[in-house]
Parts: sequence; structure tokens; C-alpha cells
Amino acid sequence: MSGPNTSYDPVEVAALDPSALDAAVEAALAAAAAAATLEELKAARGAHQGDRSPLALANREIGALPPSARAEAGKRVGEARGRVGRAFAARQADLEAERDARILVEEAVDVTLPTGRRPLGRRHPVELMSQRIADLFVGLGWEVVEGPEIEAEWFNFDALNFDADHPARQMQDTFYVDPPQGGLVLRTHTSPVQARTLLERGVPVYVAAIGRVFRTDELDATHMPAFHQVEGLAVDEGITMAHLKGTLDRLAAELFGEGITTRLRPSYFPFTEPSAEMDLRCFVCRGEDPQCRACKGTGWIEWGGCGMVNRNVLTACGVDPERYTGFAFGMGVDRALMFRTGASDMRDMIEGDVRFDAQFGMEV
Ligand SMILES: [Zn+2]
Repeated sequence: MSGPNTSYDPVEVAALDPSALDAAVEAALAAAAAAATLEELKAARGAHQGDRSPLALANREIGALPPSARAEAGKRVGEARGRVGRAFAARQADLEAERDARILVEEAVDVTLPTGRRPLGRRHPVELMSQRIADLFVGLGWEVVEGPEIEAEWFNFDALNFDADHPARQMQDTFYVDPPQGGLVLRTHTSPVQARTLLERGVPVYVAAIGRVFRTDELDATHMPAFHQVEGLAVDEGITMAHLKGTLDRLAAELFGEGITTRLRPSYFPFTEPSAEMDLRCFVCRGEDPQCRACKGTGWIEWGGCGMVNRNVLTACGVDPERYTGFAFGMGVDRALMFRTGASDMRDMIEGDVRFDAQFGMEV
């Protein structure tokens, strides 16, 4: 223990010996340089600059010196402490710079790396479109019915008044299920559901059938070997083409906006008489732009086929054609989806790319 002395005692103030001071400084500088981390530097600083360090001890010993020796000793100790302090400060700055650089590297975010986050699944846009159409018909008081995708040739063709040699029956249009003479096909339209419904339920009947149909088309931007149709059938007493037109106009307005109506052009289908092609008022220009690309300036877009149910079909299904009449229509769901979304390539609908679903898999 030391305190103010009246006499100089070299033993008492050994810490002030120049070589001891130099050794303390060298040890402190070496410890500062050897500290590899900020934590190590903090520990070294405590040992070499703290209250119990040799330099702090030397500083305290100055007070024990005779006044004449204090100035010189104070200068030496001050210089030694200054060197050590600067060395620790410099090392501190170096280590902090290293740490900051390391954090920048370690915590850098590479936005191009794949993430572990998986996109949520969605319902397919075609499915959403089908449900939207189904909802509309349910709102009209109709029922939504289903039929098999592998269908008896009789339901797909015969019951619908197709002649035995009708070209649609040929192998280049229709997928036949092996063996070909087995009488089974992949249904080429949803119309067989009409015949099934009439046979199973009788009349009156108001049903919509939405589902997949198959034709031997090559896959390209506007054709798919498997696509979706919505079929409507209403059979009751007193049904006329005016009911058909009103129903189609309601559907068109629901899907494409108020003011979008339909028009009918004479046509031929085996299962309806009279038959009509149904056109949709161009939902892009509403018939007001001769340069419109959607309708090629005609103001109308082909949408599907329709007509009054052929009396032969009613008879084949056990319905009295003298008492009952009905209408039927069919149109492509995928095509309606293309219209609504502006998607230009049907192949996008079946390739399963989730980006397509994400973009169009929402109803607004
Ligand atoms: Zn147009």
C-alpha cells in the first residue's frame, strides 16, 4: 500500500521504473495486437488499462514520489498510458471495421436465391369459371348436373339424332375406347347429359351441365384435345326461342358485363331444330370500333351453338314432343375464360404453370 511519502523509497515505487514501464507498455501493445475479437480486446484492455493494471499502479505511485520527481515521472507515465490508449483505440477501430464488413457479407441478401417459401395452391381458372357459370344457373333456379366422361356412343350420338354416317362419329374426330366396337367414346360434347337427364328425370327440366369433353384435335393456341363445355337444357310446356335468347343474354351479361347481348344466326345441329350459332356482342369495342382486333371489326364474336331441342331427341328420351318443347345450348368454358382474361394461348390453361393460375385464378 502506498501513500504520500516524505522520503523517496525505490522499492515502494518500483512500478515507476523506466524498464518496468516499458515492459508494461510492450505487454499492453502486444495484447492489443493479439486481440482477435472485440471481446478479447475488451479483456486485454481491462488487464492493461484497468484499475489493477501496472500502468494504473504506476500512475498511483506518482503521488508517493517527492515533489521534485513527480513531474518527470508523471510525464513518462502519461506518455506510456497515451501510447497504450492509442494502441487500444486503433485496434478497436480495426476490429469494428472488420466486424462491420463481415456482417455486410454474412447478412447480405441474395434476392436471386430460391426461397423455401412455397406459393399457395389455387383453384384452376377454368374451374373458377365453371363455378361462376354454375352459380349463375343456380341463381336462375336451374340444377347443375353431371354426366360421365366415358360415354356410350348411343348417348353421345344416337340419342342426339346423329345419323349413323355422320362425320362427327369418325375416328378422326372422336376418341373411341378400345375395343372400338364396344360402343364407348370419350364424350365429344356435354350434350349427352341432355339425353341422360331427360331419361332419368323426365320433364319439366332445367339443367346445366359443365364438364370436360374430348376431340381428336391437335393442341395449338386455339384448340385442345380436352376442353370444357357448359350445356344448358330447358324442356317444359310453352318453351320458345325467346326463352333461349333471354337466357343467353343473361349469361352473356353476367360473364362479360351489362349491355353485352347475343345474336343468333341460322345453323344446323342434329339435336336441335331450328339451330343457331350464337354470337356475343364484342365485349372489347361493343361493336363501335371497325379496327377492333377482338371481333375483327364485325362487332360480334362466335360463342357457341344452340337451338330448340329436336323432336327426335325428345321422342328418343320418352318426352311427348306435341306437349313439350325445349331449348339447348352449349359453349366453351375455356373460350369464355380466354375472352374474360385476354389470355391468347389455350396451352397456358393446361400446362400447369402456377403463374397462370396466380394471374387468372381470381374472380373480381
Ligand atoms: Zn370488337
